[in-house]
Amino acid sequence: MTELTTFSDCKKDDLIVITGAGGFIAGALARYFHDRGFTCIRAVDKKPLPDWYQIVPGVESLCLDVSDEANCKRVCEGAVEVYNLAADMGGMGFIERFRVQCLRSILINTHMIEAAYRAGAQRYFFSSSACAYNTQLQEDPNCRALKESDAYPAMSERGYGWEKLLSEMFCQEYWAERGMKTFIARFHNVYGPHGTWDGGREKAPAAICRKVIEAKDKNTGTIDIWGDGTQTRSFMYIDDCTEGIDRIMHCDKLIATPINLGSSELVAINALVSLAEEIGGVKLNRTHDLNAPRGVAGRNSDNTMIKDILDWEPTMPFRTGLAKTYAWIAQQYEDRKAGRRTVRDTI
Ligand code: NAD
Repeated sequence: MTELTTFSDCKKDDLIVITGAGGFIAGALARYFHDRGFTCIRAVDKKPLPDWYQIVPGVESLCLDVSDEANCKRVCEGAVEVYNLAADMGGMGFIERFRVQCLRSILINTHMIEAAYRAGAQRYFFSSSACAYNTQLQEDPNCRALKESDAYPAMSERGYGWEKLLSEMFCQEYWAERGMKTFIARFHNVYGPHGTWDGGREKAPAAICRKVIEAKDKNTGTIDIWGDGTQTRSFMYIDDCTEGIDRIMHCDKLIATPINLGSSELVAINALVSLAEEIGGVKLNRTHDLNAPRGVAGRNSDNTMIKDILDWEPTMPFRTGLAKTYAWIAQQYEDRKAGRRTVRDTI
């Protein structure tokens, strides 16, 4: 069997801590390092274990709330690398409605970074977001792609975006003042199998796939779309995200330097619906809910910096990634109908 690539020079039994691992991206990250032969991974999430999206065999899985300082100390004990992906988050429907909850994630990074520093961790990763960018640059669906310097002057997404921006600053100052190597990736919409697909926290690709599958199943012939559908985004497939995290965390040129981790393939929501219809082999009548949350008008990732520094960028074409995601959600939908366990039921 050929060994899978990693960019880490850690020993295989160095302790890697991953928070938020009961969720989508951190769960995939635990699997990523496990598959590359790392034997000492500590996965942490506040959700009870039966509710985790993925449980990776051989990985230590702890149910702890990392907004609590004492828990963070426990979690970081002996850590060589810390990946902090825990956050209270969801798609636009969630982050526009629950700003306080989003802001309170500041406690997670505040305590995790201090605990990692005190534990002598060599590297610390923080999952930031494109929502940290100045919203005034995102008022047009044909927006220019956002480059890293566009976060300032700051006018982040209310709640969620400001929390990310301030947590980024913590990371930058822990390097500047205390010499801990920190790494910050600004994710642009991540999608793929094992993500949230129902229940209120799901993002557009999963929500649209589910709606198409549901319309087919119930033979309704219609689909409801949030906003007028002209809003644009770029979407990054989960495998590109985990590889990107590994690459960024292990590149010393990127210490304390926020960098975009996203696809630069801009997609309008209406085009996303057409693709999902094509994959599902169905054509639906569209209704547009103009009062639903829709977020900024347009957002794309400028990948000049990641290409310059890492000579790499996410590569999965959206059509291919969406087909894989659609197939996984269709299976989840069937499982739920048949009374079998699904990701949705565990939220
Ligand atoms: P997710 O909701 O699937 O996973 C986050 C996990 O964090 C959840 O399982 C949740 O239970 C856990 N968590 C929340 N508060 C916690 C606490 N106090 N203690 C322990 N665990 C806690 O979300 P995701 O999509 O996997 O996102 C992971 C990270 O990436 C987050 O920081 C998110 O802000 C960031 N991000 C995600 C996207 C995206 O498109 N999914 C985009 C930009 C940034």
